[in-house]
Amino acid sequence: SESIFDVVAQAPEDPILGLNEAFKTDPREKKVNLSIGVYCTEEGKVPLLNVVEKAEQKILEEGAPHTYLPISGLPSFTSGVQKLLFGEDSALIKDKKAVTVQSLGGTGALKVGADFLAQVLPNPEAIVSAPTWQNHVAIFEQAGFEVGSYPYYDKASGEINFPAMLESLKGLKENTVVILHACCHNPTGLDLTQEQWAQVVDVCAAHKLIPFLDIAYQGFGDGLEEDAGAIRQFAASGITFLVANSFSKSFSLYGERIGALTVVCHNSEEASRVMSALKAVIRANYSNPPAHGAKIVGQVLNDPELLAQWHADLKEMRERIKEMRRDLADELKALGAKKDFEFVTRQKGMFSFSGLTPEQVQRLKDEFGVYAVKSGRICVASLNKGNVKYTAEAIKEVL
Ligand code: PLP
Repeated sequence: SESIFDVVAQAPEDPILGLNEAFKTDPREKKVNLSIGVYCTEEGKVPLLNVVEKAEQKILEEGAPHTYLPISGLPSFTSGVQKLLFGEDSALIKDKKAVTVQSLGGTGALKVGADFLAQVLPNPEAIVSAPTWQNHVAIFEQAGFEVGSYPYYDKASGEINFPAMLESLKGLKENTVVILHACCHNPTGLDLTQEQWAQVVDVCAAHKLIPFLDIAYQGFGDGLEEDAGAIRQFAASGITFLVANSFSKSFSLYGERIGALTVVCHNSEEASRVMSALKAVIRANYSNPPAHGAKIVGQVLNDPELLAQWHADLKEMRERIKEMRRDLADELKALGAKKDFEFVTRQKGMFSFSGLTPEQVQRLKDEFGVYAVKSGRICVASLNKGNVKYTAEAIKEVL
């Protein structure tokens, strides 16, 4: 045939977004969507946070025109991000060792970081946890990396196999990019302890690896400060590393595409050169970032009153998730389920690796309208008082 597009193969649909579509068109009245990674309220709705409403009100009152932002983003936003990641009194900030650019969500931060690193490294190689958020692999492969994995989740025990993870890191070539979930690991909900993080930092330093921390759920684990523990340890170590952070979940600003990429350098002179390279990557990609999400988050991070309100909003979301973890485990116990689900209460963030098999996940959907990811990942942030019992009954039936 004649078209240049004849060589274009049909790419597979994203399995999770596909499930979401199937859920929407499912005519059953009783149905529960635990597939997509979105926080919902007790009423089953994506929230408009109080603090976001207030910030938007202020922005509206200012009535400012829609100008371009600088290539690196809104300065009050990027400086606020650094404080959130490293702490108010961070030496890194004072010494101007870290540079931050605004990004299109956490995804955009990973992408700009990957493109930048691909320019710097002669043979770009990256490694992700097994399992991980699938887009990690896709982003780094598209940026020209060879992508491998390190052991993380141990199916048999349902815990992290930390010795295997550490051994694997020790065997890596110098300058391998190590992608790490700083908190609330997606999809397992299992995080390293601070002692284990200290060992990871040591191995990264000793073997000259390049840590790239992805923090998409800061505030959903134990709190904003607590969840930054791993980042603070890397910051104290003196090695260079990268951080991709997202405000999609923590501000419920999914569609505004707001996040940031931060690169920690050896000194301020290096940092200034790195910043110029990041700007070149952005300029030739989307020129400069969108403004609205940055204005909202920037307002909040720089206003003590709004900041306190955000802490409260986050606490509410975090505690509701914890309560749902508790309720799910309790309901399953009360129903006499064949398996103990207490582990769900120890996992962090929006997700839980339930241990359900692909067959059980299929039955949940077909027989009960309960949608989970094939891997057994469920989004506990979509549970509420109105659907947790039904969900538990469904799970009990398919076990
Ligand atoms: N990283 C991880 C581990 C995630 O789970 C997500 C979102 O699901 C992201 C990054 C990216 O988030 P966004 O691009 O929506 O800000």
